[in-house]
Amino acid sequence: MKKISVVGAGLMGHGIAQIFALEGFPVSLTDINDSVLDAALSNVRANLDLLTRQGIARKQAVEPAMERITTTIDLAHAVEDADFVVEAVIENLELKQKIFQDLDQICHRDTILATNTSVISITEIAARTQHKDRVVGTHFWNPPYLIPLVEVIRGDDTADTVMDRTIAILNHVGKHPVRVNKDVPGFVGNRLQHALWREAISIVAHGIADAATVDECIRYGFGLRLPILGPMENADMVGTDLTLAIHDYLLKHLDSSPEPSLLLKELVDRGHLGFKTGRGFKKWSPEDIEQSRNRLGDYLLKTLAPLNTQGGSDEKDTDQ
Ligand code: NAD
Repeated sequence: MKKISVVGAGLMGHGIAQIFALEGFPVSLTDINDSVLDAALSNVRANLDLLTRQGIARKQAVEPAMERITTTIDLAHAVEDADFVVEAVIENLELKQKIFQDLDQICHRDTILATNTSVISITEIAARTQHKDRVVGTHFWNPPYLIPLVEVIRGDDTADTVMDRTIAILNHVGKHPVRVNKDVPGFVGNRLQHALWREAISIVAHGIADAATVDECIRYGFGLRLPILGPMENADMVGTDLTLAIHDYLLKHLDSSPEPSLLLKELVDRGHLGFKTGRGFKKWSPEDIEQSRNRLGDYLLKTLAPLNTQGGSDEKDTDQ
């Protein structure tokens, strides 16, 4: 791969562009207007400054990385000579289908077309393309330049070589790609995450514990194990026999509703939207909100610093 293009320069797009630029790839970043692109470049610079202050990126790597990112509002110009395109526009199926149709017509035949959709079917996004075998899901997590995981999702028609080449390039830029073999809603990460959130909300809705207590049970309890012990390894550690005994007794008591919780709907109806309005499951003062955001940022930077040494490379010309 020689050249990367990122379509959509918002929260995710600018961070994805940054990953590739810092690892030596020329990146063409496109969006619908110049002010978004200007903001994206400022955001990349601010992120890189933060990473250098934390010792995650080399100071000398910042200017070359900035120079590798070019911006344009012309989609065709942005992607015409790209080898790998990551789409990160808003989560709208119709728009994504149109963009992939255009990309399929503009890009050369070997170009991989990847979508950063959070939940939409990769197969549906590829529906209007001629060459469906080159469309793949690459689900980065926010902030993409810090969280290592990228779920690489096979659509119904994605070629094996496209899966392999996508995983190779993501490994090459220091990400932790995983293979998702079926195109199911929520892929793997969001299915797991929202199975937990459904039960958490249900516990609050049924008065079993309040919202703060639910979070404490995770933060001071099994959440401490999760970064080093996933549920599969944990089940083996305690024994599949014990896991079976627990499931035999417990599963029928867990929330299995296919609909969002009434409590969640009520909060939204009343305008209790969380940080946005100062009240959600809990009450949030502006200081609480700042503290929460800082706590998360500090934690991610400290915990993930050893996993991320970025900007180690100069110009790339790789066969990944
Ligand atoms: P965002 O709203 O911050 O950015 C989307 C960008 O797309 C905007 O800058 C917008 O101007 C641009 N855009 C809209 N129409 C366009 C077009 N026709 N051509 C080019 N650009 C266009 O959204 P985001 O949070 O960066 O999310 C982008 C994608 O990533 C979505 O599919 C989202 O579901 C997914 N995603 C988001 C997160 C997250 O935490 N925010 C995490 C993983 C995946």
